[in-house]
Amino acid sequence: MDHQQSPETICIQGGWQPKNGEPRILPIYQSTTFKYETSEQMGRLFDLEENGYFYTRLANPTNDAVADKICKLEGGVAAMLTSSGQAANMYAILNICSAGDHVVSAATIYGGTSNLFTVTLKRFGIQCTLVDPDAPEEELKKAFQPNTKAVFGETIANPALVVLDIEKFARLAHSHQVPLIIDNTFATPINCRPFQWGADIVTHSTTKYMDGHAMTVGGCIVDSGNFDWEQYADKFPGLTTPDDSYHGITYTKKFGKAAYITKATAQLMRDMGSIQAPQNAFLLNIGLETLHLRVPRHCENALAVAQYLESRDDVGWIHYPGLKSDKYYGLAQKYMPKGTCGVISFGLTGGRKAAAAFMDKLKLAAIVTHVADARTCVLHPASHTHRQLNDEQLVEAGVDPSLIRLSVGIENVNDIIADLKQALA
Ligand SMILES: *Cc1c(COP(=O)(O)O)cnc(C)c1O
Repeated sequence: MDHQQSPETICIQGGWQPKNGEPRILPIYQSTTFKYETSEQMGRLFDLEENGYFYTRLANPTNDAVADKICKLEGGVAAMLTSSGQAANMYAILNICSAGDHVVSAATIYGGTSNLFTVTLKRFGIQCTLVDPDAPEEELKKAFQPNTKAVFGETIANPALVVLDIEKFARLAHSHQVPLIIDNTFATPINCRPFQWGADIVTHSTTKYMDGHAMTVGGCIVDSGNFDWEQYADKFPGLTTPDDSYHGITYTKKFGKAAYITKATAQLMRDMGSIQAPQNAFLLNIGLETLHLRVPRHCENALAVAQYLESRDDVGWIHYPGLKSDKYYGLAQKYMPKGTCGVISFGLTGGRKAAAAFMDKLKLAAIVTHVADARTCVLHPASHTHRQLNDEQLVEAGVDPSLIRLSVGIENVNDIIADLKQALA
């Protein structure tokens, strides 16, 4: 068997593999199109009879190299970049769900994803049942319907910081003959590789730690190749029966383990076009080259900050799965023994009003709508990212109205703590 490279090496060397005399560094293929000698060859490309590039909405060499790096980091078989994390989650679902279908999702997910599933996809005729991820298996089984086509959750929920019991969710999904889709944005493949625990498809907002520098919005979908679509062919006709819009190709027959990603590219990207700009993929690749160095530092700093906040009387509560006192410490140790993420959520004893006053006093930590950036930043989800949810939905999503989301950066941790200290004072 081939030697399996470590994540550190894949971060640096994965993806772009220059041939003799080609650029050492991943080039930006800043071109919408690609030239061919014969019209016949171009036709074969359109029929997916031959591999090659013809239009950047469908595929671009810069994007493919970066998708390949993320694919290797996750241990998958095929991957595609998307213009954002939202687009990644939307495609991940739409690739296997049509009007009349149903999805089971952990309630504790990112506000944007929750809105996508319960409002926008509903308009497409796709229903979603949100479940308490901590509920026992017997209880969770009740959420499944004959038309359920996928189960969804986040490794570490943004911003509730609930750690998902991936094995439990994989068991539930598989006993109902559907795949488990995991949004692995917060953990990154440096800390957790959901495929090892039974997940079938992984999504990312690459906007977060993967880019890491708050430069580019982007997303990615990776397929493990493990879900056997053919075995449940009647549930997934889009993959297992001929696609009339592609000359009668049956994706599972023609592309085997790459069926899911090929279909998402050939149909969804073709028709909806949420492609990542090659320029952004180039910048994302630079971010990925240091992911393995940044993530451990984010975790180390966040743990020290969490311990500091926990020791203060004016901090009413704190969630950080790396803290021994945290409800999810056990699950975090199982799924992410090296560390969880750099994000902490906490509330002040003074509640919502004290949160606003505290945030206004911060100097080093900036108030921004962002998370998982090299720079320390804060946000008040109830007033910002989750403001479309009512109080009941906030509680369901694990977001206390007093919750402050602190994204600990990779500055010197003493400087971060000093800033928090002066603002709390
Ligand atoms: C930010 C985020 C998203 C959405 O990604 P965008 O790149 O902002 O579209 C999805 N899931 C999680 C967990 C996120 O943190």
